[in-house]
Amino acid sequence: MKLIRFGPAGAERPGVQLPDGRRIDVSAFGEDYGESFFGGDGLERLARWVEREGARAPAVGDDVRLGPPIQRPSKIICVGLNYRDHAKESGMPVPAEPVIFFKATTALVGPNDDVIIPKGSTKTDWEVELAVVIGARASYVSEADATKHIAGYVLHNDYSERVFQLERGGQWVKGKSCDTFAPLGPFLATPDEIADVHDLKLWLTVNGEPKQDGTTRDLVFGVPMLVGYISQFMTLLPGDVISTGTPAGVAMGHRPVRFLHPGDVVELGIDGLGSSRQRLRAYA
Ligand code: ZN
Repeated sequence: MKLIRFGPAGAERPGVQLPDGRRIDVSAFGEDYGESFFGGDGLERLARWVEREGARAPAVGDDVRLGPPIQRPSKIICVGLNYRDHAKESGMPVPAEPVIFFKATTALVGPNDDVIIPKGSTKTDWEVELAVVIGARASYVSEADATKHIAGYVLHNDYSERVFQLERGGQWVKGKSCDTFAPLGPFLATPDEIADVHDLKLWLTVNGEPKQDGTTRDLVFGVPMLVGYISQFMTLLPGDVISTGTPAGVAMGHRPVRFLHPGDVVELGIDGLGSSRQRLRAYA
């Protein structure tokens, strides 16, 4: 199943993208895609509802704005340096254990919303990433059990301000959390939709020019390992997001270096998870 949310920012309604590509409004199901939905077997209940009522549900037009496909979660956890070629371009060693950091949940926006270059930014950068959405509470979960705690997968652009992240002291969170720095979607795909999560191409272009072209085969730490690992340090709640890291080809890794400017258009995608498109805007 593919979950979408649509409508004006802050007033999104839940929907489903059907296998034939049609999108339907499932507001009548009565639940949005948040902690109680995922934690209360919402995916199974919704699948049965769609089977029964889907044909009668109103269509969602192609011109309607998409929001992030989940409600604001309790946390967004990102994994750093999780592709060897990206660690190399960042001038950092491949870590022995996952590097994790937080991204503020207020950074979430829809997949095709404008991205705002924050006040004082000179180094706004992109990162195409496979993100995992937690489906069941996870605390001290083993790697072997981890997949039972996954609701699905979603495309994420982990926007980063490199001066805030790397040159202003302290933790990376400062450069990762600006408003609009987490476009998520177009849809959440449940695990049955993805044949092998460790064999997906991921790509990103800026103004049509290819910048990132990687595969999740190159992940240093795979998805079940990451879910199990992070759950040793904190409880993962249903609806929480883990973004699994980016392959090589970020602005910081190119020579000459060119960070993002107002008017630039970033497009990205992952096999089976669709594509998204953001136009960069100056803070005003
Ligand atoms: Zn990242």
